[in-house]
Amino acid sequence: MRDRYDRKINYIRLSITDRCNLRCRYCMPNGLSDWVPMRDILSYEELLDVARAAAALGITRFKVTGGEPLVRRDCPEFIGELKRIPGVEQVTMTSNGVLLTRLLPRLLENGLDAVNVSLDTLKRERFSEITGMDELPAVLSGIDEALRAGLKLKLNAVLQPGVNEEERWELLSLAKDRPLDIRFIELMPIGHGKDSRPVYNEILRSELKERFPGLERDERVHGNGPAEYWRIPGYRGSVGFISAMHGKFCGSCNRIRLTSTGKLKPCLCYGNAVDLMPVLRGERYLGREREGERIAALRKRIRQAISEKPESHCFERLSEISEERIMAAIGG
Ligand code: SAM
Ligand code: SF4
Repeated sequence: MRDRYDRKINYIRLSITDRCNLRCRYCMPNGLSDWVPMRDILSYEELLDVARAAAALGITRFKVTGGEPLVRRDCPEFIGELKRIPGVEQVTMTSNGVLLTRLLPRLLENGLDAVNVSLDTLKRERFSEITGMDELPAVLSGIDEALRAGLKLKLNAVLQPGVNEEERWELLSLAKDRPLDIRFIELMPIGHGKDSRPVYNEILRSELKERFPGLERDERVHGNGPAEYWRIPGYRGSVGFISAMHGKFCGSCNRIRLTSTGKLKPCLCYGNAVDLMPVLRGERYLGREREGERIAALRKRIRQAISEKPESHCFERLSEISEERIMAAIGG
């Protein structure tokens, strides 16, 4: 479906839980302040109903995210169910990678198309400082196991001044011998991201050009997102930049986001959302015999969220950011 700025919306991010096994300092350093009881989190059946309605509107690409999606029981089988919905072309996942090795066989069995793993440092102590947990070895083994199994993989790194910014070249070197893309995501002023400053990709990109004079723009399509990619001679993978703060990629925005509590967000930076709960849990739509009506009502609300997409985000005007949820509640 197209929105009112004629953008084709074919991608949805589904946050399946707001729980996480890490405590990243820019995301949820102290855990969840607003503890959402499990009964308020969408069940897999409810998520699948939303997915059916979205697919009927031409949404073909699904990202499973969280919190940490792999901490929710049976996440791999949920991915398998998503894959079976007519019209769904691609199901990918964003994960911190801690449980990747353990769940990899089930993820592969269920047809996961690709995974994005978040990794901000290669130093074990620093990993513990950034994420609150000593899990770097588990994440690194998850990455290597997934690559060995042939799963398409991208790394997402958020650099912070005075924390890990000087590690950019080490992180980048992971793409030298491994078939993976590494993307640098600018820290966004969402949730605890407001307490820190980003490292601007503009600066990174110019440093990269100086360091690698043979750098070339990589025009191939690498995924669903707003990253721009570059190729470094001799590297197997590419380097991507997701410049949320100043690189206004909103003209090609293709997405909506569903929170784990059933709120459909037209844009990351604004707090408004279309609530799907009245349909998913409303008396008049309950039961197998009402499935058709339920999906039709969900379609209507998804259309509404798409039609409410603003022309662009407002990250560069801090006072206009109205999103108050933390990133773990939104799914990134
Ligand atoms: N737990 C999974 C993970 O870490 O990949 C999925 C959810 S996490 C919220 C998705 C992505 O959002 C991660 O790559 C994380 O680094 C990123 N993220 C969290 N808070 C952010 C912020 N304030 N600005 C930019 N990226 C952020
Ligand atoms: Fe968890 Fe991902 Fe947030 Fe880190 S960024 S606390 S891994 S949800």
